[in-house]
Amino acid sequence: MESIAVIGAGMAGLSAAARLREAGVAVSLFEKSRGLGGRLATRRFDGGAADLGAAYVTVRDQTFQNVVQEAIFAGHATGWAPTGRTSDEPWIIGLPGMSGLLRGLARDLDITFRIRVERIGSTSEGYALQTDKGGRGPFDAVIAAIPAPQAEPLLDAHGKPFGDIADVRMRSTLAGVYTFAEPIGMEADFVRSDGPIDLAYRNNSKAGRPDTETWVVHGTQDWSESVLEDDPQMSAGWLLEAFGGIAGAVPKPVWQSGHRWRYAFVETSLGVACLSGGNHRIAACGDWCLGARVEAAYLSGRAAAEAVLA
Ligand SMILES: Cc1cc2nc3c(=O)[nH]c(=O)nc-3n(C[C@H](O)[C@H](O)[C@H](O)COP(=O)(O)OP(=O)(O)OC[C@H]3O[C@@H](n4cnc5c(N)ncnc54)[C@H](O)[C@@H]3O)c2cc1C
Repeated sequence: MESIAVIGAGMAGLSAAARLREAGVAVSLFEKSRGLGGRLATRRFDGGAADLGAAYVTVRDQTFQNVVQEAIFAGHATGWAPTGRTSDEPWIIGLPGMSGLLRGLARDLDITFRIRVERIGSTSEGYALQTDKGGRGPFDAVIAAIPAPQAEPLLDAHGKPFGDIADVRMRSTLAGVYTFAEPIGMEADFVRSDGPIDLAYRNNSKAGRPDTETWVVHGTQDWSESVLEDDPQMSAGWLLEAFGGIAGAVPKPVWQSGHRWRYAFVETSLGVACLSGGNHRIAACGDWCLGARVEAAYLSGRAAAEAVLA
């Protein structure tokens, strides 16, 4: 196997690509957005930055533990124990943003950003990708590491092994980010609620973040889906009002923004680590294979790489 394309530079795609790099295979990664991370993205703005997607990761598997340990040793990750949390499980965050967790995995990889893969074609010379920037390839194998509803149209021409993707269910989340001129009168750094807010946290209680008082608020999935097609900036305003109900009088933010995650959390996963077909030359992976966690995405990506290498 000489050249493999990986679609998507989130945790699953980088996990797959890092495993392939370890095996000495040339990997080309294609990512539609401007940066690494997918749902581990950090939103930067004038005077600050905040984590828009996953707030922290938890670790149960030993292989993932090794990756997290390496990130901690390299100064790309650390622990986070905000006041107000109810869990005893260690929480790990990336530095200076959540995508810091991916730095080691991304090392020396050939990644093309701002390119959207629209079709995976199969030719006599291998797989060819059709993208919004023209054709790429051929490649000996392809791994699609993107959310199930986005993977489905790319893979349905590749037959039965990918038929089960349609059974995966993913839910949406609206995330609001708010910065304030002064610390707000909320003692806890982290709070969970039961709607319309799911959780809220003080982003600047995380190590490595700018000092500016910044809150990240996630809507519940039900509420987020009820406003999904509305302007996310308007939805961020409603979320802020609801936050006032928890935090007490909240001053007007100096900056605010809303982000719609259409495919945020896996509600029904596949229950297998990855899918592969075409004599193991085409594979699909992502958190949706195993569960709604960053660790699941890591394990699924690695499994897809192993399947293709096998
Ligand atoms: C608001 C929110 C809070 C969360 N909180 C937590 C938490 O606290 N702890 C936890 O463990 N998990 C949490 N999660 C879930 C966690 O973020 C995900 O499980 C994990 O990041 C998924 O990684 P992935 O690589 O499977 O997918 P993604 O991160 O979605 O990566 C897929 C990548 O593929 C790219 N892509 C998609 N289609 C194409 C295409 N056609 N061509 C090229 N590129 C494409 C996307 O831009 C993206 O970068 C949260 C998620 C959200 C949204």
